[in-house]
Amino acid sequence: PLPTIYAITPTYSRPVQKAELTRLANTFRQVAQLHWILVEDAAARSELVSRFLARAGLPSTHLHVPTPRRYKRPGLPRATEQRNAGLAWLRQRHQHQRAQSGVLFFADDDNTYSLELFQEMRTTRKVSVWPVGLVGGRRYERPLVENGKVVGWYTGWRADRPFAIDMAGFAVSLQVILSNPKAVFKRRGSQPGMQESDFLKQITTVEELEPKASNCTKVLVWHTRTEKVNLANEPKYRLDTVRIEV
Ligand code: UDP
Ligand code: MN
Repeated sequence: PLPTIYAITPTYSRPVQKAELTRLANTFRQVAQLHWILVEDAAARSELVSRFLARAGLPSTHLHVPTPRRYKRPGLPRATEQRNAGLAWLRQRHQHQRAQSGVLFFADDDNTYSLELFQEMRTTRKVSVWPVGLVGGRRYERPLVENGKVVGWYTGWRADRPFAIDMAGFAVSLQVILSNPKAVFKRRGSQPGMQESDFLKQITTVEELEPKASNCTKVLVWHTRTEKVNLANEPKYRLDTVRIEV
């Protein structure tokens, strides 16, 4: 059987949320054996997301955990608690049975994912890596590969990062997640842009990384970001006669 791909997606309520999730679900629905772990940054599961998932036509798990208010500040890493909740769910789910083959991947709700990316990550043995487009102030960042091994990073931003890679640029086998039960995203001591490195160094080394996407020469995922919507003309009175979920 195909290894299951577990996609952990942190998500939060905002005007574009349902549009982002719709795009993501339309992609994921075309991927065989994918389990979507959607983690709301909220004190409770929302009606919007619950209804959405029920109709999404995908195997899914719906979690929630609110980001403490003190961490909701510009410059601080986002979605730490939500990614950890996804990790905890995965470990819990597999605690009793010998691990089935599976691959974990962190899929932010606003990125753009090619279907080829999932074929590439499916064969992850421990930790695999690939280029990410439109990130770090460049057209792309990528792991530099020599003789099939990662030897450095093509990046223009904080080149001192031990793993100069975006969240969208790697996948981890379920085995590795289960055999490193303490590996989590940390709040304390995590500088901007270091979330990925802080996590990856708990579970792997640069030498051990498995390059995907033709030795990291193809961009199969893009760190797209959605423009903030203009709601300047929302009515303050004389609201619409129906209430519509957007
Ligand atoms: N996110 C979240 N809570 C927040 C901000 C972001 O759960 O307060 C989620 C968001 O939906 C996305 C991920 O965390 O899936 C990364 O956030 P964002 O895309 O804003 O980060 P960036 O593109 O700047 O890396
Ligand atoms: Mn984003």
